Amino acid sequence: MLGEPNSLSSFLVEGELTIVRFPHMNAFKKLPIVDSALPNLLALNFQDIANLVDKLGWPFYRTHQVLRWLYQHRAREIDSMSNLSKKDRDFLKTVATIIGIPAPTVMQSQDGTRKLLFSLENNLAIESVLIPDSKRLTLCVSTQVGCTVDCRFCLTGQMGLKRNLKAHEIVGQVMAAQDILEKGERITSLVFMGMGEPLANIDAVSEAVSRITNTQWGLGIPARRITISTAGFARRLKALAGLGVNVAVSLNATTNEQRDVLMPMVNKLNPLPELLEACRTYPLDRGKRLTFEYVLLSGENDSPEDAQRLTKLLRGIRCKINLIPFNEFPGSLFRRPPDEVIEKFQNVLRHHGLDVFLRESRGRDILGACGQLGKLPA
Ligand code: SAH
Ligand code: SF4
Repeated sequence: MLGEPNSLSSFLVEGELTIVRFPHMNAFKKLPIVDSALPNLLALNFQDIANLVDKLGWPFYRTHQVLRWLYQHRAREIDSMSNLSKKDRDFLKTVATIIGIPAPTVMQSQDGTRKLLFSLENNLAIESVLIPDSKRLTLCVSTQVGCTVDCRFCLTGQMGLKRNLKAHEIVGQVMAAQDILEKGERITSLVFMGMGEPLANIDAVSEAVSRITNTQWGLGIPARRITISTAGFARRLKALAGLGVNVAVSLNATTNEQRDVLMPMVNKLNPLPELLEACRTYPLDRGKRLTFEYVLLSGENDSPEDAQRLTKLLRGIRCKINLIPFNEFPGSLFRRPPDEVIEKFQNVLRHHGLDVFLRESRGRDILGACGQLGKLPA
């Protein structure tokens, strides 16, 4: 260790790179250059980079320059930051490095959906899914390896939680997906509906959203094009309000007992009445509404009585409903309801004036659909 730990260590965030500490500039020059021991610029937030720029004795505007290189020009090495002098680049290289998440393996579905598989360290893997339709190209990103929650109908839930993703691993999925797009393609919407529960990793998710939405130096995807889906951590719902994103709540049941069975963990922590109250009091922006997702499970939650109850539960909440017929996976305990049952369910809701959409999941042949993330197809 060189000298006393000082404030420079404060730019080493996200718990992974707490290595180099030095009290004054000259100490930089004495450091051996060991890339893996240097802070990863992509793992630093705005303030961390500003602190680094300050410590290097550079003017503040360099903070934006460096950030633009990382997120807009996609610099993968410090040497390509061509508006820094060679001397400054060499200097920066002695204190920091750039390590993106590894390039994904891409699986193509017959319906145009592409699944991106990212191998992380320790044999861990995450997935993102690119879903085209006639108007949009949506990227579905993961927020955890596995999931904190244990919903009975979800393959990811069966994995348990391996670990939370860091902010740069969430942003990295978007950047990697943009990198594999074909000419003329552009990601138009982003949904946090991949592996994991966003509200169980809210700090990293918030930080990722700020880098993704920033127009000055970040990816510039507007917050209104982003939807964060939660299994229903009612007490944390308000944390999403400041982000300007759309909120989707996975309701999936119409009685507390039913939800206890289908989503035991989250419903024990925040029972259905508490969740609905949090939705009712959620500070929705003008013109916005909540989305409720409802996975239709044959014989479990798909009866006309369920549909009737659902209309009552949602009364007075500005919302729309996405019905998701259950996507089966090898070993799943549930079945997709027959089409006529789905239609009947939908009609009851429509009859009560609710805005209902049927979300036919895409990418089923590559296990890229909702609730199928977590295992490779055989
Ligand atoms: N953890 C968050 C976001 C990821 S899950 C959440 O639960 O909201 C995204 C959506 O997929 C949720 O609405 C969830 O209810 C749904 N889902 C999970 N497993 C499914 C399956 N096997 N078939 C259809 N939808 C599923
Ligand atoms: Fe986790 Fe969402 Fe799957 Fe539930 S549905 S286990 S919260 S990913």
